[in-house]
Amino acid sequence: VGPGDDCAVLHTTSPFCITTDAVVEGVHFRRGDGPLEDLGHKALAVNLSDVAAMGARPRWFLCAIAAPSLTLAEVRALGRGMAQLAKRFSVALVGGNVTRARELSLTLTCVGTTAGRPLLRSGGRPGDTLYVSGTLGGASLGLRALRMRGHRFRGACRRQRRPEPRVALGLLSGKYASAAIDVSDGLLADLGHLLRASSVGAHLLASRIPVDVEVRRAFGASARALTTALVGGEDYELLLAVPGDRTSAFERACARAGETVHAIGHLVRDPGLSLLDGKGRLMRLPAAGFDHFRGRRR
Ligand SMILES: [Mg+2]
Repeated sequence: VGPGDDCAVLHTTSPFCITTDAVVEGVHFRRGDGPLEDLGHKALAVNLSDVAAMGARPRWFLCAIAAPSLTLAEVRALGRGMAQLAKRFSVALVGGNVTRARELSLTLTCVGTTAGRPLLRSGGRPGDTLYVSGTLGGASLGLRALRMRGHRFRGACRRQRRPEPRVALGLLSGKYASAAIDVSDGLLADLGHLLRASSVGAHLLASRIPVDVEVRRAFGASARALTTALVGGEDYELLLAVPGDRTSAFERACARAGETVHAIGHLVRDPGLSLLDGKGRLMRLPAAGFDHFRGRRR
């Protein structure tokens, strides 16, 4: 039973994964940053990304809107952004709520189902290869570029405003990966979550980090390009640990499905995170992580 009753009614015979995430004016976006359609897209995309990180198929979502006032045209714009993405991934809106508030916010709850066991952060083992999908740093550059006049970073702005959840890759990874997380707070921060949950450490190879092409253009060969890729948040790529005996099958499956993944290092027994240069020498790690209560880098 979808919208229209006091509750939605969902029936599933498989385990389901449920997540919620909010985008709030003044914290996650400013009204002038872009069209409301993009905001609708992003609010759903960040939830789909969490479902994808569990190796689950997104099925249903609920949407709570709070706003000082919204015209019908504005509600439609938000809805269009969500609907386009929902249709692509066959996710149904089953309920929601609208309330008045001092600033605009969208709080979405998304439910996905898994065929087998969900992918957890805690499944990583020493020796597993670490993979990350796509490229990193673009969304972070985009956030700055949105407020710059006459910039040339269109791809980065798009990544910031309309992130692409890696739903197909998440589904495919369920068969191969031992652990997964989506990169929302930045590669180092999210890898840190996976390492703690799995009680392992990691060696990361700096030369293998897939730095976004516009981030390279913006910062050239300087250390800032790599730092942006390591700590910039909101790329919504997937970070996966895959046991050694499954890496070639995983890479073949990704190639067949047209999913881009990069092996960026591996898990080790000793706790802690080491960043290594091309000659295997230890590099300094930039400070990582996003403090959700301060709204800035720690
Ligand atoms: Mg997440």
